[in-house]
Amino acid sequence: MVLRVQVRSRGRSDLIDITEKIRALVRESKVQDGICFLYVPHTTAGILINENADPSVARDILNELERLIPWDGHYQHREGNAAAHIKSSLAGASETIFIEAGELALGTWQGIYLAEFDGPRQRNVWVKFLVTQK
Ligand code: ZN
Repeated sequence: MVLRVQVRSRGRSDLIDITEKIRALVRESKVQDGICFLYVPHTTAGILINENADPSVARDILNELERLIPWDGHYQHREGNAAAHIKSSLAGASETIFIEAGELALGTWQGIYLAEFDGPRQRNVWVKFLVTQK
């Protein structure tokens, strides 16, 4: 079974911390030992793991991606959102996180972000758990 999480983004580019939503799903699942797969079915959004203790890290990531891949750069894609497709490719469409003792095994400073690059809009994260033996 695939669980679906809906996320609302706020700007054209946005990093939305979904760590607590995913933690809640893990707890509801009662999986004690396993793997959590996260998948974003979009071509202009992605998913990434990085620091969520200092919010300036997320802003730096977005600002630097914008500098490297400017919205109004010279691209061939006629829809006008080539920068979003490129950023989405860099962020990637999936993450894999272990579940130990019924909790996501994230590093101390790590959080999970839905990475929006062509918002604001409604996005989806697909979640699947694989139960493994202790
Ligand atoms: Zn496009």
